[in-house]
Amino acid sequence: MNAPDMKSEHHTTPGEIILELRTVSKRFGEVTAVDDVSLQIARGEFITFLGPSGSGKTTTLMMVAGFLNASDGSIELDGKPLDPLPPYKRDIGMVFQHYALFPHMTVAQNIAFPLRMRKQPKDEIARRVFDALDLVGLPEHGGRRPAQLSGGQQQRVALARAMVFNPRVLLMDEPLGALDKKLREQMQIEIMRIHRNIQTTILYVTHDQEEALVMSDRIAVFNHGRIVQVDAAEKIYDAPATPFIADFVGESNFLSGKVADIADGYARLDGARQLRGLCGADCVLGASAVMVVRPERIQIAPDTPSAQPAENSVAGKVSDIIYLGQARKYLVDIAPGVEFSVLQQSGAKDAFDMPVGKAVRLSWRAEDAVILKDE
Ligand code: ATP
Repeated sequence: MNAPDMKSEHHTTPGEIILELRTVSKRFGEVTAVDDVSLQIARGEFITFLGPSGSGKTTTLMMVAGFLNASDGSIELDGKPLDPLPPYKRDIGMVFQHYALFPHMTVAQNIAFPLRMRKQPKDEIARRVFDALDLVGLPEHGGRRPAQLSGGQQQRVALARAMVFNPRVLLMDEPLGALDKKLREQMQIEIMRIHRNIQTTILYVTHDQEEALVMSDRIAVFNHGRIVQVDAAEKIYDAPATPFIADFVGESNFLSGKVADIADGYARLDGARQLRGLCGADCVLGASAVMVVRPERIQIAPDTPSAQPAENSVAGKVSDIIYLGQARKYLVDIAPGVEFSVLQQSGAKDAFDMPVGKAVRLSWRAEDAVILKDE
């Protein structure tokens, strides 16, 4: 296959800004769908917009595509304002959840369509369609009609059609939303591989946090029309900026208190347990705060009088055990109305017998917890 031929002609200097949103807002009457969003996207980057339903992801994407005008702010592609350009002149490819293939055309004709619109020579079209089919793993399928393909194959064709003209940016809005879980996971890997090959800039929208963590160089988390954090996937997971992000991306346990002490990047909550964790964003002395700790960072063991108390340790009672195959999830009551979730890998060699009702002790390291301002 000819991956180098499909490589974006626009990929020159990695890290240089290709797309910039400056204080962009979009209002629909009383509703502010996008609220003062600023973002710089680097050439060749895979960036994902992640957020709950209605948080403004699609609206932002539609403004980049040119299907909606911003109420305020500006969007620049390669340093030039996009506002004056209609969608078809923006040099941007799009893939949606519903493939929107032309049913009466063959696969090859569908993929050729953007090139025909751009009046490319015939032999160039044939070569590019051939490469694009190969790139998405459908070299033998050019003569079929969309109805003769599976959902996953149709989505590959949509992807090939969006990429075939080497757009400067590829926009993808929930492209895998209609596929079942197994196929979705397989396609995630394939899209990542294609991205590595062609090195085009991809702006990807999903409300599926696992998908975002798997695929992205960076994730922009949306809530109520705003970007609340933009960072690498690991950073979003390990150092969420707010309790909302900690809750939305992955699973988290929360304990509230007031910040009693800050030293060397760590903070301690007031109260008898003296819980300590990394001092996160907006963690200030005396402020109401929450400690956030991930279920897989917590150790669980029977609560025996001889147990050495760890730095962060709480006693509780197992209220439920959920078998997940590769892991076991313990739900543990640690205070009235406060339940912690603890994930233990199946077959862990230090696994104890801890049935429902058992008194247990949970412990975790200070560096595995983060203390954030209460929202
Ligand atoms: P989803 O994951 O459900 O697609 P989203 O994060 O993409 O959600 P948007 O579709 O951008 O969210 O919508 C943001 C907000 O703007 C929502 O409150 C939505 O109801 C509102 N909205 C979007 N389009 C319009 C419109 N044409 N007219 C009025 N309100 C709209």
